[in-house]
Amino acid sequence: MSDERAGRIADFIEPLRVEPGSTVRLGRDFDPRYKAGLKKRDGVELLQTGVSLLAEYQERLAAQDSHGVLLCLQALDAGGKDGTIRHVMSGVNPQGVRVSSFKVPSAEELDHDYLWRYAQRLPARGEIAIFNRSHYEEVLVVRVHPENLVRQRLPEVEGGRDLWDRRYREINRWERYLTDNGFSVVKIFLNLSKEEQRTRFLKRIDRPEKNWKFSAADVRERRRWDDYQHAFSEMLSATSTKWAPWYVVPADRKWFARICAAAILAHTLMEIDPQYPDVGDAARKDLLATKRDLEREAPEGAAADPYEDRSEKGRSGKGRSGKRRSGKRRG
Ligand code: AMP
Ligand code: MG
Repeated sequence: MSDERAGRIADFIEPLRVEPGSTVRLGRDFDPRYKAGLKKRDGVELLQTGVSLLAEYQERLAAQDSHGVLLCLQALDAGGKDGTIRHVMSGVNPQGVRVSSFKVPSAEELDHDYLWRYAQRLPARGEIAIFNRSHYEEVLVVRVHPENLVRQRLPEVEGGRDLWDRRYREINRWERYLTDNGFSVVKIFLNLSKEEQRTRFLKRIDRPEKNWKFSAADVRERRRWDDYQHAFSEMLSATSTKWAPWYVVPADRKWFARICAAAILAHTLMEIDPQYPDVGDAARKDLLATKRDLEREAPEGAAADPYEDRSEKGRSGKGRSGKRRSGKRRG
């Protein structure tokens, strides 16, 4: 059953995956309105299934405590990063997830190498870390606005093509290092159309409770639409690797984008296939000895082991420790 489910998820996300080594041109290769023939009505239930699946796997990931997952979310403004995180992670235990949002780098951050601030936020074993914007800003906004590069005070600021090729290489190697050491890197680009961004901006302007989400900078960035599409296309082509592929998620329909994000993350967790640890025979023997001690401590009227009572009932009638003491004190 579980294998069948894993297969269905793999098939569902396959068209979104950027084939390593391929050359992507966003406008030509990916449709922001694609919805795999689904209807919004089916979407609600599918997302619910995905959310429960993630909750189950996240618990196992934490219990196994040997692997971590890094989910990088990239998008243009109003692409739906925040809502995706809110919905997709709605079922998981907050103790096992760490979300980091990356803004314009601080003076302290600029005093270090460009990957430094992202390295501080990596997941621990057993954790899922989400990057709301990520190290990929270093080849996106920094590329579209080279003044960011000047602030980084690199040894030789060339700004030319070579620099970006070098960054792609460095990022690929860094992600390779992470995956080799037990940390899966999942990368999602929420692919929004220019027209959908226009209407989402208008909504942010028209609804007072959404005004805080909108800034004049967003419109300035929108004017650089083509430059961003180009930077995204180059990034997707150069950094979708076998060990850390990119997924381009159609983002014009929020409900569909959320299902895709849940499916991609679930796929990664299923590949790790974390298990609840088996404590081993010796430890199990110790546990049973402790269990007998605890059972002997049961006060009058209490079940020696209420859990065993419950689980044994209907199976064998009375478990080994199922000798229920009568409520009345015996004389
Ligand atoms: P928001 O996500 O709307 O809060 O905006 C965060 C802002 O930080 C965006 O305008 C990003 O372009 C900017 N930003 C994020 N990372 C970097 C970076 N590495 N260098 C320069 N600007 C960045
Ligand atoms: Mg913003």
